[in-house]
Amino acid sequence: MNNLFSVQNKVVFITGSTRGIGLSLAKGFADAGAVVVINGRNQSEVETIVKLIKSTGGKAYGVAFDVTERDSAAKNIQNIEQEVGPISVLINNAGIHRRGPLEELSIDDWKTVIEVNLSSAFYVSQIVFSYMKDRKKGKIINITSLNAEKARPNIGNYSAAKGGLKMLTKSMATEWGKYNIQTNAIGPGYFKTDLTEHLVNDPEFDRWVKSEVPLQRWGMPEELIGTAIYLASDASNYINGHTIYVDGGWQASL
Ligand code: NDP
Repeated sequence: MNNLFSVQNKVVFITGSTRGIGLSLAKGFADAGAVVVINGRNQSEVETIVKLIKSTGGKAYGVAFDVTERDSAAKNIQNIEQEVGPISVLINNAGIHRRGPLEELSIDDWKTVIEVNLSSAFYVSQIVFSYMKDRKKGKIINITSLNAEKARPNIGNYSAAKGGLKMLTKSMATEWGKYNIQTNAIGPGYFKTDLTEHLVNDPEFDRWVKSEVPLQRWGMPEELIGTAIYLASDASNYINGHTIYVDGGWQASL
C-alpha cells in the first residue's frame, strides 16, 4: 500500500518546467524521490532550475529545446534515455497564450498557439512512445485546461488547442493502451503563474475568478502535484484517457 503512489527513482520528463506549473510539478516529483528532467527554451534558465533542485537534495537533469522542433526533441529525448535512464513519465506541460478576438487573430498567432499547445504534445509523445512501447510501460500526462471545455472571449486559439489536446489524450489512450501506457490529462482552472500574472493583477478579472469558482480563490501551482503524482504512479494503472479537472469546482457549478 505504501508503494502505491511511489514515483521513487522514476525518470519524469516535464516540458516547460522552468517556471509556473511545470516548475512546481518538477519540485513536487523531486521531493517525492523521482529523477526530474527539466525543459524550456532557455539554456541558462534550465541550468538554474537543475541547480536549484539539486541544492535541495533532488535529482535533476536539464534539456533545453523548443518542443515544437521535432528533430531537436528526438535528439534530446535520446540523450535522456541514454544518460539519465528510461523515461517512465512524460508530462506535456509547455504552453503559451497569444490573445485576441477571433476576427482579428493573425494566422501566426493561431498557428503558434496550436503548434506549442497541441502539436508539440503529439511530436514529443510520439518520440517518447517509441521507447516506452518496447518496455511495455509508461505514463503520459497532458496539461490541458478548463478552457478545453469552456470558451472565453479572446482565447479561441488556446481553447481550440486545449480541446484538441483533450481528444489527443483519448486517442493516445485508445491506441497505446495495448502497450501498457496510460495517457491522461490534468485540466487546471485558474492558477497564479507568469502566464496569468496580468489577469491576477487585473482587479476586475480577479473579482470575476473569485466570484465564479466555488472555492473562491485562485489555484496555487503546487496544488497540482498530488494529481500528477497519482497519474504517474501505480495507483492509477487502470485509469486511461481521462481528464481530471483541478479547478476548485468551476466545472461543477453554474
Ligand atoms: P508559464 O508561462 O508560467 O510557463 C510556461 C513554461 O513553458 C515555461 O517554462 C516556458 O519556458 C515553457 N515553454 C513555453 N514555450 C515553450 C516551447 N516552445 N518549448 C519549450 N518550453 C516552452 O505557464 P504556466 O505554468 O501557467 O502554464 C503551464 C501549462 O499549464 C500550459 O500548458 C498552460 O496552458 C497550462 N494551464 C495554465 C493555467 C494557469 O492558470 N496558469 C490554467 C490552465 C492550463 P520558456 O519560455 O523559457 O521556453
